[in-house]
Amino acid sequence: MTMLTRREALQLVGGAAAAAALGSNASAQAPAFPKGAVIRTLFKDYAPEELAGGATLFHEHLSLGVDFGEKFRAASAAVLAAQGLPTANAAAPPPAPPGTDPMRDVDLMVEELRAAQRDGVACLVDAGLEGAGMDLAFIRAAAKKSGLPVVKGAGFYVEPFYPKEIAGMSEEQLVRILLKQVDSYPAGVFGEIGSWDEMSKVERKVFRAVGKAHLATNLPIFTHTGIPGKAAIEQLDLLEDAGVDPKRVAIGHLGNLADPNLYVHKTLCRRGAFVGFDRQGGRGDAAVVPLVMGLLNAGFADHVLISGDASRSYGKPLTAFLPQLKAAGADDATLHRITVDNSRRFLAFVPKKSRKA
Ligand SMILES: [Zn+2]
Repeated sequence: MTMLTRREALQLVGGAAAAAALGSNASAQAPAFPKGAVIRTLFKDYAPEELAGGATLFHEHLSLGVDFGEKFRAASAAVLAAQGLPTANAAAPPPAPPGTDPMRDVDLMVEELRAAQRDGVACLVDAGLEGAGMDLAFIRAAAKKSGLPVVKGAGFYVEPFYPKEIAGMSEEQLVRILLKQVDSYPAGVFGEIGSWDEMSKVERKVFRAVGKAHLATNLPIFTHTGIPGKAAIEQLDLLEDAGVDPKRVAIGHLGNLADPNLYVHKTLCRRGAFVGFDRQGGRGDAAVVPLVMGLLNAGFADHVLISGDASRSYGKPLTAFLPQLKAAGADDATLHRITVDNSRRFLAFVPKKSRKA
């Protein structure tokens, strides 16, 4: 598999910006943002144009609990078993040796973030949430020291990871807690808000509350879906029923939905939502290339988002996945539009009130 050098990746994501400065056709595609729109990172609000120098990755992880992987596998197995489906790949990978896990060592994480910048990343989103072992102080320290703009997600992940008091809360109580999170981080997006393929009653309640919290803040929303992806449509339905414009929503993990007809993907695009191919830069890439190309060829390039859902090597979606799209026929301007423009269009929002910190 061809890997881009850092310089080449940088040229690819920065290429159209350079071309725009030279007055080529690429400038005709510069995205327009609503007046007053910002991208809210942990330490400052950026005008979206300020982050045009590289890619923005909309779904990554700087901090997850040590038991996250084990808990996730157990929850997945329980869901599959409840549906009478086989629970394969039960074996957990061995834990990282001490001193080698960037999630447990701020200096290692800072190195990862700096490497991402060298790979052409201008900004990334942390999708970790309360209940899933997210350590806000760690994320803030790594972001500050690296200098990489980091957007913090808010909300609650999937039912097995909800703090236990969530189950008994009313929707209105949940909305108040979400708004408190948003102010305190401060958050720049809701996500990753998730469910398995059969949404639970409590997950539906959380989705409705997130929809209402969106109306109060204007913050965009990205989601986590299970396999094979039936919940993708239901998630958008719940948010739209709560009053959210689908244009402000990214439905995630749709690289897992290997439908060559792209029925769900295209349905989401037609409704205005973004479609997240957010586990790229690794082993699953080859199967996802035809899905992305299918959407590009159907005219849905403006709806495609790419990220890694990674906890290290954040530049991989750019250095490893983009060359595969390019080899499949995607041109540089389109790849730039997806990685640099779409993710900024997704994250940019007009705040209903100014940030607290
Ligand atoms: Zn994730």
